[in-house]
Amino acid sequence: MKAEEFIPEVEKVLEERGEPAYRLKQAYAALCNGLARDWEEATALPKALRAALKEEAPAAVLQLTRTSRATDGTRKYLFETHDGHLIETVMIPERDRRTVCISTQVGCPMACKFCATGLLGIKRNLKAREIAEQVFVAARDLASASERVTNVVVMGMGEPFLNYDETLLALKVLNDGDGYNLAARHIAVSTSGLVDRIRRFADEPEQFHLAISLHTPFQDEREQIMPIASRHSVPVLMNAARYYVEETRRKLFFEYTLLARVNDQPRHVRALAELLDHPLYHLNLLRFNWTDTGFTATPKPEAKEFLRYARELGLSATLRPSRGQDIDAACGQLAAKDLAARPPLAVSLRAKPTPAR
Ligand code: SF4
Repeated sequence: MKAEEFIPEVEKVLEERGEPAYRLKQAYAALCNGLARDWEEATALPKALRAALKEEAPAAVLQLTRTSRATDGTRKYLFETHDGHLIETVMIPERDRRTVCISTQVGCPMACKFCATGLLGIKRNLKAREIAEQVFVAARDLASASERVTNVVVMGMGEPFLNYDETLLALKVLNDGDGYNLAARHIAVSTSGLVDRIRRFADEPEQFHLAISLHTPFQDEREQIMPIASRHSVPVLMNAARYYVEETRRKLFFEYTLLARVNDQPRHVRALAELLDHPLYHLNLLRFNWTDTGFTATPKPEAKEFLRYARELGLSATLRPSRGQDIDAACGQLAAKDLAARPPLAVSLRAKPTPAR
């Protein structure tokens, strides 16, 4: 069971009270399967214990401050952490799928030039509970319509492989039969390309999927839009990609956000066809949702032509529609806006300056 690692503060309360060991399993099930946001809902636990937990180890670690709904059904959840940070989560309905896109950091240090989250810099890593709870809240919201979360993608705020251990623990809890019980093949992680972590991820026993944010096949262009490319070159990244597919025999997804006149030319398709020449590689083309970063989206007809040419050159490729535009549902947009509108936490909590002598 992952409970000891996932909810150590609950375990501590149980130990201090001399509760039997099975209470931890009940508490874990109440959070991960019963989706409890208040210990009063965990009716398998005795009343006195519920009261003690409520006092010392609250059931919810994130406060849901806003839910926005787009006309296409996409929902966006804005959360506040216990220390006043904002993070965001998006639920995307698509046919019989309900995919939840979750965050792993407050902000992100990777500074990709087209990403609003990247403009924020990094505030802190999220704990496993804060990561998994985003899914629990979305699942609770969907349950009111008798629906459930079918897929989880780790593509929200942050670079998950910079918060590797907490992210993996959260995903294991989501996958755990005693936890949320979502099949590993319905969970995918996206990285900007930390090669040592790609190799480590390939060696994990769970069959989680992986996506690599590529965004251009050319080293010089990648350095310009993704600073990480200066540390891990495209050939080094592709070596790690090859290791991943050879070790796991699982499909590997390459995310490619189409940016007008930046990475959407025929020469990009030709270079991609050479670079992604492997039967397990799949190119995921994404439409860019506008953010205040100076980039614009490739128009739809050109995006479709990019896809057509990619397929003509033998690439396995799909073009994903942009979703939730009327609620700024591109990962990074809403929290970025709210954070920009607030004074930074460090300033708002700073002690009054000492008067000059
Ligand atoms: S695209 Fe992803 S890795 Fe890059 S800055 Fe944004 S959140 Fe970070």
